[in-house]
Amino acid sequence: MAPRSPKPLPIPPAEQPGTPDESGGLLTIDLAAITANWNTLRHRAAPAECAAVVKADAYGCGLVQVGTALANAGATTFFVANLGEGRQLRAFLPRATIYVLNGVYPGTAPAFAAANLRPVINTLTELAEWDAHVAATDWRGGAALHVDTGMNRLGLSPDEAAAIASRIRSEDHGISLLMSHLACAEMPDHSLTRRQVKLFRDLRLLYRGIPASLANSSGIFLPDTSPLDIVRPGAALYGSNPTPGQPNPMQPVVTLQGRILQIRQLTRGDSVGYGATFTARGPVRIAVVAVGYGDGYARSACGEAGRPAEVIVEGHRCPLLGRISMDMLTVDISALPEGVARRGGMATLIGDGIDVDELAARTGTIGYEILTRLGRRHHRIWREAAPETETRTAAATTAA
Ligand SMILES: *Cc1c(COP(=O)(O)O)cnc(C)c1O
Repeated sequence: MAPRSPKPLPIPPAEQPGTPDESGGLLTIDLAAITANWNTLRHRAAPAECAAVVKADAYGCGLVQVGTALANAGATTFFVANLGEGRQLRAFLPRATIYVLNGVYPGTAPAFAAANLRPVINTLTELAEWDAHVAATDWRGGAALHVDTGMNRLGLSPDEAAAIASRIRSEDHGISLLMSHLACAEMPDHSLTRRQVKLFRDLRLLYRGIPASLANSSGIFLPDTSPLDIVRPGAALYGSNPTPGQPNPMQPVVTLQGRILQIRQLTRGDSVGYGATFTARGPVRIAVVAVGYGDGYARSACGEAGRPAEVIVEGHRCPLLGRISMDMLTVDISALPEGVARRGGMATLIGDGIDVDELAARTGTIGYEILTRLGRRHHRIWREAAPETETRTAAATTAA
């Protein structure tokens, strides 16, 4: 672990779709909670190094903001999915080690070197392409070798990896990491997890001297598994529970609030929204909230196939009702005293006890998808240590 950089880097601002007052959705990302989560994972994984997976815009939480906050906390190794993400992060973190999980696309090896990014090499063909570049340019920026131990997605087969091990160790290919990925890490008793761990441990012996990495968020919590040299948490950093079915050891990170556009009183027989899927059987009061599926709020949250998701209005949990539109959703606030909910107020869609995993369960998906779909129309606020140091990146910065 590199020593904390003496002077913290400022959290970079971002382009915003409007000011907070102008926006239908307000998304608050608690960078202090992300840092706390990283520290929790780091302590749990020690003496392994704790990297940070920041692909997909840091799971919707802001690549360069999260990357900078974690670098300030001491993180030195980052994983992204694509070259472009790596380049974006590199612009803010000149010294970080950045691995690109999807590897070398044809012809892109020089771009990796140019931005000092490390590809995760997933096939022998990629290795050959990378080797050719390394040989031709003397570039020694490092690369990871990914071995498929049972996911059947990316990676060399264990046989391929075993066959080239001595060559990798004796010649200088610049391989700086041996990694594999668990398919069922959140299911500790799954036979595939045990098989993957065993296979990877055996392979690792052939690659002695090269750091090894296997665990994602849930992998860090597997019993009886040493986390090896580097762990690669993503989802847990952003508050999703790495131990489903058990208490969540992570702090919540994301708060999503939606603006109340109007309050409406329904009488018996009135229907609401597209398809008229809800019809009032008596008096019902609803709030119309300015967040819809066009903001990444899943249309399936309206509960046509199960229980609808809930939203917090003035401290009360209220169920959605009717269909979710592109730009708004409707909430049954009949349980609230009249006059409490008002136009211009904010309803909480994520946060205050509604976590991403709960919303995911109500919408038939996983916390990962809830996070990575967080809409681009929300005004984003990155909260650092204390509320007064919030980075409000509204008009201050630019639409560059
Ligand atoms: C996305 C990803 C991770 C992070 O997984 P989480 O479950 O989000 O912790 C780690 N390793 C690889 C190869 C990945 O693709």
